[in-house]
Amino acid sequence: SHTILYGVFGDPIRHSRSPIMLNRAFQEANINAVYAAFHVRPDELGDAVRGIRALGYRGINVTIPHKVEVMQYLDEIDEGAQIVGAVNTIVNENGKLIGYNTDGIGYVRSLLEETGIELTGKSVLLLGAGGAARGVAYALAKEGAGCIYIANRTKERAVELAETISVYTKAIGLGLDELGEVVDGVQFVLNTTSAGMHPHVDELPMPTELLREHHLVSDLIYNPRITRLLREAEAKGARIHGGLGMFIYQGAFAFEYWTGTPAPVAAMRQVVEQSLAE
Ligand code: NDP
Repeated sequence: SHTILYGVFGDPIRHSRSPIMLNRAFQEANINAVYAAFHVRPDELGDAVRGIRALGYRGINVTIPHKVEVMQYLDEIDEGAQIVGAVNTIVNENGKLIGYNTDGIGYVRSLLEETGIELTGKSVLLLGAGGAARGVAYALAKEGAGCIYIANRTKERAVELAETISVYTKAIGLGLDELGEVVDGVQFVLNTTSAGMHPHVDELPMPTELLREHHLVSDLIYNPRITRLLREAEAKGARIHGGLGMFIYQGAFAFEYWTGTPAPVAAMRQVVEQSLAE
């Protein structure tokens, strides 16, 4: 049988760990497939998507900065991806391109696998209102989080996102100056901003004086593995959860959408951790 083709579109794309992770997954699952990284500039995105059909690629991941723009070129968008307003996984079903978003479900699965914590009824303080925040906020709401406070540097974006998910659960948009009023009452504090990401490792998304021992503090960033926010939270006695699991599980869900078989998560994690340590 011939080799099945997969890939990822991004700009930049050089540092993506998706190729090593997915190629390892196909190998472990005994699937004859190859996953390649494509440097696709914004003005070439439409051509690149038409290339998926023309070349018979079975599946494509989409990363920064194309997750929103790619939607206009697809034939169908899954309901969750529609609400989130972003696609990170394309499935080619006999020439019909269907868009999904596995970021939010990947985050929720990682949280459950790595902390054992159920979200039902819990209150969450979510920092940020960008693309990653949208996917995670939607997944948390669908998972039954009791109340989601969304705080963002640009407050209007937080208010808009809170409105979007308020059909699923209670959600309130705040400015960063309003954290003090809600932080003691939440169980989770979750950073979805890029504050603290390499190379800005000294940045904090919130004043860490507000963190408490009863919090579970979670960060989507996985470079560095432990951000300054998580380090300071741990020093306060809080439990912490990093972003690497989300990256692995968003890829695992894409693998499952494409192949219909369970992803070999342990092998995927091993190869990504090894590559980050190099
Ligand atoms: P976006 O550019 O869409 O959003 C960035 C967000 O961060 C906005 O809410 C922005 O606020 C806020 N922000 C940026 N800088 C600061 C700062 N210095 N202080 C306070 N707020 C700030 O990015 P994404 O949502 O796509 O990505 C966000 C982070 O999530 C990145 O670090 C990324 O690496 C990580 N991520 C991790 C994934 C994983 O698999 N683990 C998957 C996807 C993302 P404003 O609206 O005011 O500009």
